[in-house]
Amino acid sequence: MDNIVIVRVDEIGLKSKNKILFMKQLKFNIESKFKDLFSCKIVGNRIYLLPKYSFNNRDLENLKKIFGISSFSVAKKIDKDFEKMKEEAYKLVAESLNDDVNSTKSFRISVNRADKSFPMKSPEIAGEIGEFVLSKLPQLTVDLTHPDINLEIDIRPEGVYLFKDRIKGAAGLPVGVSSTGTILLSGGIDSPVASLLMLRRGMVINAVNFYSPPFTGPKSLDKIIKIGAIISEYTPFPFHLYVVPLTKIQMLFKNLEENQFSVVLQRRSMMRIAQKVSDITDTKVLITGESLGQVASQTVENILTISESTQKVIFRPLIGFTKNETIKISKNFGLYETSILPYEDSCSIFVPKNPATKTQLNKIKKIETALPQISELEEEALQESKKFEIKNGNIEEIDVFKILKGGVL
Ligand code: ATP
Ligand code: MG
Repeated sequence: MDNIVIVRVDEIGLKSKNKILFMKQLKFNIESKFKDLFSCKIVGNRIYLLPKYSFNNRDLENLKKIFGISSFSVAKKIDKDFEKMKEEAYKLVAESLNDDVNSTKSFRISVNRADKSFPMKSPEIAGEIGEFVLSKLPQLTVDLTHPDINLEIDIRPEGVYLFKDRIKGAAGLPVGVSSTGTILLSGGIDSPVASLLMLRRGMVINAVNFYSPPFTGPKSLDKIIKIGAIISEYTPFPFHLYVVPLTKIQMLFKNLEENQFSVVLQRRSMMRIAQKVSDITDTKVLITGESLGQVASQTVENILTISESTQKVIFRPLIGFTKNETIKISKNFGLYETSILPYEDSCSIFVPKNPATKTQLNKIKKIETALPQISELEEEALQESKKFEIKNGNIEEIDVFKILKGGVL
C-alpha cells in the first residue's frame, strides 16, 4: 500500500527535553483510536500512519479529535527517482481536476529537500516538474502565491512523499502529558468547553456534575451524559463522570432567611464535594468554566469567596473569554447543539431573586458554622452519586470512584 498519512505535531519545537515523551503519548493516542486501521511510526518530528487496508477520507475524521496534531496529509510514498516523481506529480494534479479536462485551475509545485544528498536542488526540481505537468496539462497556469492546487513534494532519506492538502488538526498537546484534573461540569455551554480546553493542554480529566432530583428530570441526566459522551471522543482515556444529587443541600440554603447568599453557599458546597472526588480519584487540580463577571457568582469577590472553600488549585481556562468566543469554540467542538438543549440545570432552579454580587467571607462562614449538618449532607450526596465510565462515546454505569491515571509514560 503506497498511500500513507503524515501527521505533523503541534508545539513540538518548544519541547526539546520532553519531545520523545510527547511523541510517544501522541502515538499511543492515535493508536488507541486507529489500531485496526493503521500502524504508527515516529520518524523525527512526525508520525507516519501506515494503513493496514485501504481507507478513505471519512476514516480520517477522528484524527481531527486528537489533540497534539497540527496538521495531517494523505501522501503518496515513492522511491527517490526523479522520473517517478514527475509522473506521480502529474497524476496527482490531474486527479484534482476531477475529470474536468478543460479546467483552467492554477497550480504550484512546492519542494522540500530534507534529504540533502538528493542530487538536484529544490527550485530546479520544482521548475522541471512544473514544466512537465504543464506540458501534459497545458490549460493550467502556474501561480506561486495563491494556487488552486498546491502539490508538495517532500524528499526524505527514506523516500519521497507527495501530497496536496494539509488538513488542520486539533492542535495543542497530546492528552496524557499534563497530569490530571477534576472539572465541575454543568450541562451549560461554558464548562464543557473548559473540559476540552484542558484536554487540549494535555490534561487527563474526570468530571463532577450536580443535579437536583426530582426537580431536574431524567432528561437533564441524559443531557449531561450526552455531553460526557462528546467529551470522551477527544481523549484516549476512559472519561469518568460522577453525578451528585445536591437537592438536600440546596433546600437547606434556599430556606435561609438571607437567601441572597444561596448561590455562593451552594457553590462552596460544590467545591468541597468536587475536592473530595478529586482526592478520592487522585487528581491534582479542580477546573471550572467560570468567566469573570459573566453572572452574579462570577464577580472577583464571589470567586474569592467560592475559592476559599477548597485548598485545591482551581483552573479557570475561560476566565478572560467573551461568551461569543466560548460559543464559537463550543460549536467547533460539536458541543453546542447539546449544550443548548432546554433541560434545567441544577443551579438555575434554586437561584434567588436577587443573588448577592459581593459576598463577605466572614458572613458566609458564619452562616455555614450555624449549619453543622452541611458536611454530613455533602458526604451523603457523594455516597448517593451515580457513576459513569464513557469510552469513545460508549456509556457504562459503574459502582466505584476510579483513580485517574495520567499519561502512559
Ligand atoms: P456553564 O455554562 O458551565 O454552566 P455558567 O455560565 O452557567 O457556566 P455558572 O452557572 O455560574 O456559569 O457556573 C459556573 C461554573 O460552576 C460552571 O462553569 C461549572 O464549572 C460550575 N457549575 C455550575 N453548575 C454546575 C453543576 N450543576 N454541576 C457541576 N458544575 C457546575
Ligand atoms: Mg450553568
